[in-house]
Amino acid sequence: MKKQIFLTLSILLLASSVDSEEQKKDLDARIKSINSNFIFADMHAHPSRFHRSNIDSISEEEIHRYKAHNINVVVASISTDMAYTGDYDTEDGTVPKGQYKPSSGQSFALTLERLQRIQNTFTEGRAVHADSPSLLLKARDEGNLAIIPAMEGADGLEGDIENLYRFYEMGLRLIQLVHFRANALGHIQSHPYSPGGLTEFGEKVVEEANRLNLIIDVAHANTETIKDVLEISKDPVIFSHGGLKALRDQDRALTDEEVILIAKKDGIVGIWPHGRYIESVTRMVDYIDHVIDLVGPEHVGIASDLRGVSKYSKGFGREANFSAIAEEMILRGHDDETVGKVMGGNFFRLWQEVSK
Ligand SMILES: [Zn+2]
Repeated sequence: MKKQIFLTLSILLLASSVDSEEQKKDLDARIKSINSNFIFADMHAHPSRFHRSNIDSISEEEIHRYKAHNINVVVASISTDMAYTGDYDTEDGTVPKGQYKPSSGQSFALTLERLQRIQNTFTEGRAVHADSPSLLLKARDEGNLAIIPAMEGADGLEGDIENLYRFYEMGLRLIQLVHFRANALGHIQSHPYSPGGLTEFGEKVVEEANRLNLIIDVAHANTETIKDVLEISKDPVIFSHGGLKALRDQDRALTDEEVILIAKKDGIVGIWPHGRYIESVTRMVDYIDHVIDLVGPEHVGIASDLRGVSKYSKGFGREANFSAIAEEMILRGHDDETVGKVMGGNFFRLWQEVSK
């Protein structure tokens, strides 16, 4: 009975703790202090829906949202397979929905145009290019948000390695190999399933990505493709955004075995606040804790997938409350180092490793 009362009391105290203004202030200060020692990173997002909307750049409002939550760097992803699914806005704002075969050069052009939108964001002075880990540190010190231009699905390469160099020149620093369709590089983890691993072209891209110091992202890839990349890549890789089958069995989730393989190569698994699969920030931290229990605190990070999904975990929301994740970790008793690593320290360490 006594134990029961104690438990109820503790739960009540925990539930009310963040509501108290005093405690919220303490938590904010603690998060700021952790952030002064660790880079905070959003490993996968589509800020301002820039990859789809017919806009020229990422908005000030969106940049401000990141800064308000101490995020230092965001990976801005271009889903280049949009040219195949037709699910994007054209320059006049229309949406050419439906599956179709794009003409040669269309997917490449779409990728370049989106990279230009990120460049415009830099030109307009809202954010800076995360060209290298050292420039990211400089951006942080100067109070700027750094952006890593990225592809989600390398369909925009259109099977030509020369196009990778063109994208690199336009700022590309991270490459996710596949997205919602099996492409010239490899195969996907979701419907429509296709058996097979990394293709010969995929191998070439991994080798060149290693040489160019591009971060490789195996999100959306099936087990075979992930294993092939882990075998071939000289550098650790990330699986930027997804769930865990151990907590909820669905297509976009990793098995414990996959998590272990990625971690063994010194890689990182990113947990996302996707409301359809992970109902709340509390649950999201259950996921983070599962990875920590499985492989230690060095191999987990966070990825909002902001503006890429329609429903976010409760407590994170469309307003992108990154601080809520750090707060929940602190309330569970994680030390500053663990919180700092998960919030982005791990991602920064991996990027330094990749850049060597
Ligand atoms: Zn995705």
